[in-house]
This record gives sequence, structure tokens and C-alpha cells, in this order.
Amino acid sequence: MPIDLLITNCSLLPEPGREQLIAPGFIAVSGSRILASGPMEECPSSTGGTVIDGQGDLAMPGLINGHCHAPMTLFRGMADDLALSSWLNEHIFPAEARHVSAEMAYWCSKLAAAEMLLSGTTTVADGYFFEEEVARAFAEAGLRAIPSQAIIDFPAPGVPDPGERLTRAASFLDAWQDQDPLISPALFAHAPYTCSAETLIRAKELARGRRVPLFLHLAETSQEHSLISSPQGATPTRHLDALGILDRDTICVHCVWVDDQDLDILADRECGVILCPQSNLKLASGIAPLPRMLERGIRVGLGTDGAASNNSLDLFKEMGLAAKIHKIPSLDPVAVPAEQILHAAARGGAAALGLADDLGALHPGKLADILLIDLHQPRMQPFYSPNTLVYSGSGHAVRSVIVHGRLVVEERQILSIDLEETKAHVLRLSGQVAQPELRSPP
Ligand SMILES: [Zn+2]
Repeated sequence: MPIDLLITNCSLLPEPGREQLIAPGFIAVSGSRILASGPMEECPSSTGGTVIDGQGDLAMPGLINGHCHAPMTLFRGMADDLALSSWLNEHIFPAEARHVSAEMAYWCSKLAAAEMLLSGTTTVADGYFFEEEVARAFAEAGLRAIPSQAIIDFPAPGVPDPGERLTRAASFLDAWQDQDPLISPALFAHAPYTCSAETLIRAKELARGRRVPLFLHLAETSQEHSLISSPQGATPTRHLDALGILDRDTICVHCVWVDDQDLDILADRECGVILCPQSNLKLASGIAPLPRMLERGIRVGLGTDGAASNNSLDLFKEMGLAAKIHKIPSLDPVAVPAEQILHAAARGGAAALGLADDLGALHPGKLADILLIDLHQPRMQPFYSPNTLVYSGSGHAVRSVIVHGRLVVEERQILSIDLEETKAHVLRLSGQVAQPELRSPP
């Protein structure tokens, strides 16, 4: 097979459990997949494709952002430091009613795609309205994605009649299934407290019929827990299980307010779980019990959530926090070591999204989603172990990004998007959003 892209003289991130980097090493790419990788002495000679000198760089699998709402980049910084119920009901839902449109979803998703690609995310699972525009923006940006059309029980952007929510979702799947190798459309039922039992069941039936994943926010806050829980012992998780929603193709986001019985259910049903620790901390929702999830073998990945509740889409920041915050509930500094978090951000995320066969490693046969990390940056020196990526790393250390065999970021410049045009459109759209009143400091 021809070599279309050859990365030479880089260090290769070791497999989990192996401490030694392969250095110097190489990666050969043919079409969209990795053809070979290993030490430089095994490097094939170039046959006319692109050659990247990876001297000083660490090659690692692209990061996987398991949960985002890309159009919400428009609302970044619009309403900070609020409780989830007030944030949602008094700020986000009204702003969405006024400002979310197909145009907004397209340009803000392009901005989100640029932010994610530049900081090393090569796959994102998104959930919002106007997902056909989100999908179009991601496909044009060269970002691999699972865009998921949102389903919710009240009038929503692009779906003024809630009775149309499932037909709208079905037509989104019609438009994007098998259309673009980077895009795998799915469904996103917002949450057990915004979707009735009937809506949840019908959304899952549609997802099953089309063989696509169903994403849900689950057990995010204590308020949700109180709202759904009943004297009979239901919890949000047990509520979904009783409805038959939970299976291997259901991906539950947050899972903060879950007890041992809930975790056993998530493990038994083989659900994927995506944790968003920065969003959970900013909204004071709580800390998900990651160690108890890993004990049960649950597939866990990381997500940023939307830019309105994080406010960054840099998965390196998510990793740094995740590796520290899960030590607090047990006061155990050994809990959830950095290596496990690095795993969750790449291979674990791929597994949680059902993509483990294709993503999350640099093996021959995997899709060529590759990051080159600049190890010469002061924050990356000295580099004793990959733990440095987690505790000291940053999206700013990403030098080059390859998705599906295509170079989309080179020397920290995005090649696939006209970034100035994108920012100009988002700036224009943000001018229509009312500025929050400046509050006096307490
Ligand atoms: Zn979310």
C-alpha cells in the first residue's frame, strides 16, 4: 500500500502499562489508516507522500471529547457562577430561544471545531439543536464527530412544536447517515427531567431502529436526583433502566448522583459513561465516583460539556482536573493515577463511544488520528513520563494534528478552517446577545 504520510524521528507514546517511550520512532499512514508504526530502524523509505519531521515531538492518539454542545460557544462567559437550575432556566434557555439558529449553530460549531483541533481533540460527540449545521461545520473542519440531534419535551430551537421532535431527529439521521466518513450521526435525549418516559422510550426505539447511539445527561445534580427519585426507591438511573433505555449503545453523561446499585446497573447494561468534571465543578453539581466506575469495568471517557459551563474545550485541562479531583472524596492521592486519565481521554473515550476498534491507539489498522506534542516547550520539560501530559500539559503544546490521515493543524495553525472569517461571524452573532449586567464585587 502507498505511504501517503510519514512521520519520522518522533517519540511514540507507550502502550498502557509500558513505561518506555519508543524514541526515535515513526508512523506511516496510508489513506485514512495507520499502516505501520515503531522504532526508526524499521521505518520504510518514503514513496513520495508527505513527510513530517517529528524531531522533538511526542506522537499520541488524538483526544476524544465525549460530550460537547458546540454551538454554545456563543454563550461562553455569558452567565458564569450560577446554580444549574438558575443557569439553565433564567439564562441559557431564554438565550437559546432568542439566539439559536441554523446560522449560529454552523459558525459557532466551526469556532468550537477550531478550538478543539488546535488543542488536540480529533473526535467529538456533540448534542444540540440544528445538528445538521453542526455536522456540516465539523465535516468541513475535518473533525471526526458524532453529532446528535437533541430531543426535549418543550418548544426548542428549530423544533417549535415538541410533537415534531422525533421526526426532526429522524430526518437529521436520514441526512447524515453514511454521508461522510468523519460524521456518524446519533441522538441526544436531553435528560430524564426534560424528557417524559414516553419520549425517552420513543427516542431509544428510533436509535435502536437506526443502529445509532443514544446520549443522555444522567444524574447530573442533586435537584435531578430529588425530582426523579421516588419513595419506591427509583433514582434517575433506575428510572431509565425500568424504561428499558440502558444498553451498550446508550451513553450516559455526568453520572454524578449515582449509588452503588446505579453503578451496578450501568455496568450490567454495559453503558458508556462520559464524565465532565470541569462543568460539574463550575456548576457545583458534585464529583462523579470515577474509581467505583473503573472498579466495575465501566467504559469511561471524558468530555468538556459546552463552552457555557466549562468554559474551555481544551481536553488537556479536563485531564489535569480529572486526575486530581477524584483523589478528594477518598483523600487518597493514589486514586485514579494520571495514566488512567490519559487512557480515559483517548482509548477509554473511544471505547465509551463504541469506537475502540478504530480509535485510541497508534497501531497499524487504526484510523490515523494523531497528535504531535511539542516536548520542547518549557512546561513539558523535563519529560520523565506521560504523566507530564496530564499534570502539566496544555492544548498549547499541540504542534500538529492529523485526522483521518489528513493534516488539519500544522505548526499550531489550522489548515482546514478560515479562522478569521469564522471569528468575524461569531463576533457579529455575539453582538446580538445581551451583555450580562456587571455585578459589583461582594
Ligand atoms: Zn451537556
